[in-house]
Amino acid sequence: MKYVTLNNGVKMPILGFGVFQIPDGKECEEAVLNAINAGYRLIDTAAAYQNEEAVGRAIKRSGIPREEFFITTKLWINSATYEKTKIAFEKSLDRLDLDYIDLYLIHQPYNDVYGAWRAMTELYKAGKIKAIGVSNFYSDRLVDFILNNEIIPAINQIETHPFNQKAEEQEIMKEYGVQLESWGPFAEGKNNLFTNEVLAEIGKKYNKSVAQVVLRWLIQREIVVIPKSVKKERIEENFNVFDFELTSKDIEKIKELDKKESLFLSHTDYETVKRLNGFEVE
Ligand code: NDP
Repeated sequence: MKYVTLNNGVKMPILGFGVFQIPDGKECEEAVLNAINAGYRLIDTAAAYQNEEAVGRAIKRSGIPREEFFITTKLWINSATYEKTKIAFEKSLDRLDLDYIDLYLIHQPYNDVYGAWRAMTELYKAGKIKAIGVSNFYSDRLVDFILNNEIIPAINQIETHPFNQKAEEQEIMKEYGVQLESWGPFAEGKNNLFTNEVLAEIGKKYNKSVAQVVLRWLIQREIVVIPKSVKKERIEENFNVFDFELTSKDIEKIKELDKKESLFLSHTDYETVKRLNGFEVE
């Protein structure tokens, strides 16, 4: 496994396993266990995914020591205030059945994120969280947040894939020492990603799938990536990306796929703000 070093010295695997949209219960537990058996140690969940308990059970069942894992979970909007963050964090710890979290992220840039960050900073200083970060912060919000807080986020987890590459955003993050983490590396298959001709052509040269080309491309850009799958063969396929290297020509070709636009949502659209705020997590 290749690692990145976060701005506080913590090491994080560059490749992990995401569990968004995997139903809680047996399905999620089995998927995470398959991922752990394939070699993944970074698991990315969230209070809003409502499957933290299943993730926790898979970790226990694996028999692998806690220190070998890198567990990420996230704070949902309705708990993003100073007081509520501490309560939400304890609930996530309970559901995961862990006594610390490796990375805790503010899931969305809404509600009292400054208050939430103060609470997260206290939990971080108390050793309950190894690194703190944000998600879905566009560059304007991120820079304002950095300039007005004591602790700079270790991570910003944002939509990043071949059709929305985030090169400029990554440069800004680099300037401040924030690590870019990709969500939706396959754009969840939108825009026919898995049959894209450019990506398939590149894959053919190395005997690799489109999925593997995409993951390799993100890893070579030093972006942390957390693909999701519920299928054992795909979970293994997605982990098998460390035995080939894309050339600068391959990378140039992939650059041309960039539309610099979300395939999912705009966080500055008021309908999105309304919709996401309307979803409440216990
Ligand atoms: P992905 O881009 O990882 O795509 C997942 C989809 O691709 C699933 O339909 C899966 O199907 C399919 N797939 C996976 N591997 C392969 C493969 N090798 N070949 C063909 N199809 C494949 O989408 P996600 O939205 O899940 O993003 C990844 C993770 O990022 C999430 O799980 C979550 O942890 C995080 N995330 C964070 C967000 C945030 O707001 N912070 C938002 C969205 C995601 P199948 O399962 O049937 O194999």
